[in-house]
Amino acid sequence: MNALEPIKAAPLYAKRTAVFPKKTDGPFRRFKWLVMAVCLAIYWGTPWLRWDRGPYAPNQAVLVDLAHRRFYMFAIEIWPQEFYFVAGMLIMAGIGLFLVTSAVGRAWCGYACPQTVWTDLYQHVDRLIDGDRNAQLRLQAAPWRAAKIVRRAFKWSVYLGIAFVTGGAWIFYFADAPTLQREFWTGTAAPVAYACTGILTFTTFWLGGFMREQVCIYMCPWPRIQTAMLDENSLIVTYKDWRGEPRGSLKEAKGAATPLGDCIDCKQCVAVCPTGIDIREGAQIGCITCALCIDACDKAMASVGRPRGLIDYCTLVDADLETKGLPARSALKVLLRPRMIAYFTIWGGIGLALLFMLGARERLTLSVARERNPEFVQLSGGAVRNAFTVNLRNMQDRPRTLRIAAEGLGGVSLYSDEMAPTEARGEIAVTVPADSTRHVRLYAVVPGDHARSQDFTLVARATDREGGAVRRETQFMAPETEHEHEESE
Ligand code: SF4
Ligand code: SF4
Repeated sequence: MNALEPIKAAPLYAKRTAVFPKKTDGPFRRFKWLVMAVCLAIYWGTPWLRWDRGPYAPNQAVLVDLAHRRFYMFAIEIWPQEFYFVAGMLIMAGIGLFLVTSAVGRAWCGYACPQTVWTDLYQHVDRLIDGDRNAQLRLQAAPWRAAKIVRRAFKWSVYLGIAFVTGGAWIFYFADAPTLQREFWTGTAAPVAYACTGILTFTTFWLGGFMREQVCIYMCPWPRIQTAMLDENSLIVTYKDWRGEPRGSLKEAKGAATPLGDCIDCKQCVAVCPTGIDIREGAQIGCITCALCIDACDKAMASVGRPRGLIDYCTLVDADLETKGLPARSALKVLLRPRMIAYFTIWGGIGLALLFMLGARERLTLSVARERNPEFVQLSGGAVRNAFTVNLRNMQDRPRTLRIAAEGLGGVSLYSDEMAPTEARGEIAVTVPADSTRHVRLYAVVPGDHARSQDFTLVARATDREGGAVRRETQFMAPETEHEHEESE
C-alpha cells in the first residue's frame, strides 16, 4: 500500500475483534504517560482549587453554579446574560482544534481525548492484572473456569473503582467540592448528585473498559471531521513504504534474489497499536496518531542496526519528496503556512476580543419597565403618579448603595415599595447585595401643574469610592392637558 493514498474510511459496521495492545516504551510512550498524568490531574484536581472572591461569592476556583446561574473560572465570573463569553471560549476551542489538527493531525485523539486517556489507563490495568499481550490473549481464549472468573471479577472491580473515582468526579464541578464530598458520603447530597455519579461511572466503565477503539472508529464523529481538515501539509503517522518495501524477515532477506526493504515484518507496530490496525496498509481512519507504532518500529530498527523513522510523523508533501530521494522540509516551514497563520490569527483575535470585552464590561446594570395598566394614577391633590419596575444588577463581590434619581422630570419625587408615600423625595437610596439583582418597585410623583407625558432618564449612581452611574431612558405618562387635547382634535 502507498502512504500517499487517501485515508481509508472504516466500514459502517464490523464485528469487534478484541484488541490486546502490547506494552511498548519510547519517547512517544513516555510523552503519552506525561499527557495522561497532566490531563487526569487537571480534571481531578481543578474542583479542589480555591479562589478567594470575598465573603459573598463561592471560593471554588472553577465552578458551574447552576442554582445561581453563574460560571466561575478563577477571577472571571460569567452571568447568564454574558453567555457569549462561554460561546466565545467554545469557538476558540473549536478553532484551536482546527489549528492543532491542521498542524499535527489527530494529536487530540492520540494524546488528550478523554476516551484515549481512559482507554490507555484501562489497558495498563489489563497489563498489571492479566499480563502483557500474549498472556491476555491466552486468558481470552481460556474457558470460563473459576480462576478466569475471579481474575475478570477483580479486574472489572478495578475498572469500576477507577470509573467511580475519575468519571464520577465530574459532579464536583457543579457544587462546592469539599461540601459535596461530605454530603455524598453521609447520604445527604441531592439525589441528582448520586444519579449523575452513577451515569458517569457507568459510561466511563463501559466506554473506557469495553468499547475502547470502537468509540474512535465507529461512534465518535470527530475522526470524520478531522480527516476533512487534514491537508497534504498536516503531520500524520506514516509508514515509509518507499523505504520499507518489499518487506520480509531477516531470514527471508538472506535468501532473497533482490535486496528487501527495511521492514523486517516483525509486526511490532501492529502488536502495540491500541486500535489494532496495521499502519503499513496506509493512512486510515482507525489511526488515532498515538505514535506508539513509531516507538515500536524504532526499537525494531535499532535491534537490526537500521536508522529509525521507518514509521514516523510525516506530511504527504514530505512523503512525496522522500520517495523521490529529496530531503524533507523543516518543521518550521511545515508549520508556518498560510492556513496555519489564518487559524492562529482568528483564534488569537477572538481571544483578544474576549479579553477586551471582559475588561470593559459593565459591573452595574439597570433596566426599567414602566407599568402600563394603569399607565398613571391621578392623586387627590392633582399630582400624577407613575409606577416602574427597576432591576438593579450588582456584579461585584460586595454590596453597593445606589442613589436613584429622575433626570429631566421637573418637580418629581420618588419613593419605593419599601417607603411610605410621605417619604417621597428627589432621590432615593437602594442597596443591592453583592453578586445579585435587586427588583425595586419605584413610584414617580409629579405635581399636577408640571405633569405631562414626556421622556426622562432614570439614573442610578453608586455612592461608594469606586463610583459610576447607569442610565435608562423611559417615559412618564400623564392625562392630556386641555391644550394637548385641543391640538390633537
Ligand atoms: S497505527 Fe500507530 S499511530 Fe495509528 S493508532 Fe496504531 S499505534 Fe497509534
Ligand atoms: S515495526 Fe517496523 S519493521 Fe516491524 S513490521 Fe512494523 S514497520 Fe516493519
